[in-house]
Amino acid sequence: MGAHQNPSQHPHHQPQRHPQRDQTGTLRDPYVEQKKAPGIEVCQVCALLHHAGRWYEGTPPLEDVELTICPACRRVRDRAPAGTVRLRGFSPGHFEEIRGIARNVESKERAEHPLERLMEMVETNGEMRVTTTGAHLARGIGEALRRRFRGEVSLRYLGEAGELQVEAQHRS
Ligand SMILES: [Zn+2]
Repeated sequence: MGAHQNPSQHPHHQPQRHPQRDQTGTLRDPYVEQKKAPGIEVCQVCALLHHAGRWYEGTPPLEDVELTICPACRRVRDRAPAGTVRLRGFSPGHFEEIRGIARNVESKERAEHPLERLMEMVETNGEMRVTTTGAHLARGIGEALRRRFRGEVSLRYLGEAGELQVEAQHRS
């Protein structure tokens, strides 16, 4: 497997954590690959393939592939989540179940969108914080909590440009 260049030296891999506006004023998410690579790239962390603007799971071809790091693995490496779910007011006895709910939502989401992954699930001071590599997954976890704790949870969505904060407040 031939790596033609070190991804960290590539101009598109400069560490930019926040969306930037390009010359046309369009917001660009630094974790979305802008480059149009002619061949096939493979993530050297999770082995996801990238071709024609799409990330997918599969078997790399035998011909030369270029090594890269996919947007999800870069977010994990940089500890830069695209989504955060903050859980407030829940009983600590619920946290194990909530971890299971988050994993379920992830496995469904990931089947279709391989860049949507859980990062961390951290409990501190009776609260829990779940971080994700995709805003879609954070929203999905919030909605799953709303269904599970019907009438007991209020959701608040904050943030823009691909970085989403979901606040799930339990009325206990
Ligand atoms: Zn990866």
